[in-house]
Amino acid sequence: MSEVSRIGIVGAGMGGIAAAALLQRAGFDVILFDQSPAFSRLGAGIQFGPNVMKILRRLDLEAPLEAMSCLPDYWMSRKWDDGEVLAAIPLNAERERYHAPYITIHRGDLQQKMLEAVATDRVRFGRKLVTFHDDGQAVSLEFEDGTRDKVDILIAADGINSRIREILFGQEEPVYTGWLAHRAIIPGAVARDVGADLNAKWWSEDRHIVCYYLDRALDEFYLVTGEPGEWTSAGGQMSSTRDALRESFRGYHPMVQAYIDATEDVTKWPLKTREPLPVWHRGRVVLLGDSCHPMKPHMAQGAAMAVEDAAVLTRCLTVLGTDDLDATFRRYHALRKDRATKVQSISNANTWLRAPEDPFWCYGDDVYDMTI
Ligand code: FAD
Repeated sequence: MSEVSRIGIVGAGMGGIAAAALLQRAGFDVILFDQSPAFSRLGAGIQFGPNVMKILRRLDLEAPLEAMSCLPDYWMSRKWDDGEVLAAIPLNAERERYHAPYITIHRGDLQQKMLEAVATDRVRFGRKLVTFHDDGQAVSLEFEDGTRDKVDILIAADGINSRIREILFGQEEPVYTGWLAHRAIIPGAVARDVGADLNAKWWSEDRHIVCYYLDRALDEFYLVTGEPGEWTSAGGQMSSTRDALRESFRGYHPMVQAYIDATEDVTKWPLKTREPLPVWHRGRVVLLGDSCHPMKPHMAQGAAMAVEDAAVLTRCLTVLGTDDLDATFRRYHALRKDRATKVQSISNANTWLRAPEDPFWCYGDDVYDMTI
């Protein structure tokens, strides 16, 4: 293999973008493909803990993201009807303990900022991977638009419906968990008027609603639910209504009702998962993020795990090199599997921070402390 390997990454989600930026900085020749025709600003929020921010610091993104985001002091868990505090978990209130901020931000703004860390001439939108062939020397890629490419290493960052995973390990559909998520963004003024927490999760027995601001100025406020429901459509996202949200959260605290009353554009998403995958690579092809460990989103750590994978994979390729890829990828898997599987199982169980607990093992982690 040549001194500087040419690495193809399929999927420009958080994991793929992080991998592209980190590998470029490590000196690799990287090319990032995505099926979408262009970058689009998905209407949703995201939380990134200190464990991810310490990685984004290496891309000079920590300070600009911090300047744009809301910095919640606590994660508040509240009882659905009377608002009783079930847990108040310090986030930025204990920032010095974590050595990095905990941010909440618009997903589109985050993705756009992360993309700026990747050389623009190495990003190819409108490239849907149809198939690939690993002949032991290189990996040939074929895209739906008829174009082809050839890389030394292929990274699958193509999400829960990964085509690459399917080709490597056989077809196995992700499983609908019986839960869906409603999402909506409302004006921040509505939340400020009722004295909203910066970041709160309201829990009842079989459902919850998570509510947080998306920016430093508190101009936008985000609602995302987890609730049982039927899902019959084959697609990934559908439009929904304020009435459907009202129905699902009937009897919830007046503060939650005020948020729901202010919703306009409401969407719903199926929450799907898969069993942990025992192997994350074959030949010259390696998986990261949701392609190998998708989860229900209830720990707000799915994208975080994808970015951590990207950082550890970059370190393994840098430190261990590319001459014995099987050894390099086995080490990457060994370093990641326990943490990713633990987060996947707690997230799926939806127990995270419902009652007082110390989240340091998750947020306090720094993948750069790890011995490769
Ligand atoms: P994805 O983000 O799914 O990206 C995959 C990319 O691959 C896409 O851009 C897609 O277009 C592309 N692609 C797919 N197939 C092909 C193909 N054949 N050819 C070319 N391109 C292809 N995580 C957090 O860390 N914090 C949160 O607060 C949080 N909240 C969430 C809330 C909800 C309701 C949900 C559903 C998830 C949430 N998550 C959160 C989880 C997070 O969204 C995912 O874990 C994360 O997006 C996975 O990143 P990824 O890069 O592995 O894949």
